Amino acid sequence: VPPATNRPRAGSEEIRRKMSEQRRRDTKPEIAIRRILHSRGYRYRVDYRLPGTRRRADVAFTKIKLAVFVDGCFWHSCRLHGTFPRTNRDWWKEKLAANAVRDRDTDSRLRGLGWEVLRIWEHEDPSKVVDKIAKAIESARA
Ligand SMILES: [Zn+2]
Repeated sequence: VPPATNRPRAGSEEIRRKMSEQRRRDTKPEIAIRRILHSRGYRYRVDYRLPGTRRRADVAFTKIKLAVFVDGCFWHSCRLHGTFPRTNRDWWKEKLAANAVRDRDTDSRLRGLGWEVLRIWEHEDPSKVVDKIAKAIESARA
């Protein structure tokens, strides 16, 4: 958590907007991926709270312990589309760096608990994403 003096004022429109985006679930890419998975006969849990953690997977296959995260390009600093807002730049830098640290921490905790973790960018083609997931499922079952 950045020191209070670095924090943008609460009324900052850009921050309010971004923060509410972050909380959103059922994003378009998630829905597209789930729809294709479902049509291919896969069954999964949505927004699944991972046992032993406070983290949630966007899509989870609990029997084989496969957790899928659909990472937003902004919040997870995609190399192609990640940006820093112009205002409150330092605050955002710290915030987004902290997100990255939390992601890696989530991954290692889950792996420690015997889960496989698949991270997908929201910009990826949903049907290719499903191919990737299908591959991971196959190898988990093998
Ligand atoms: Zn991206």
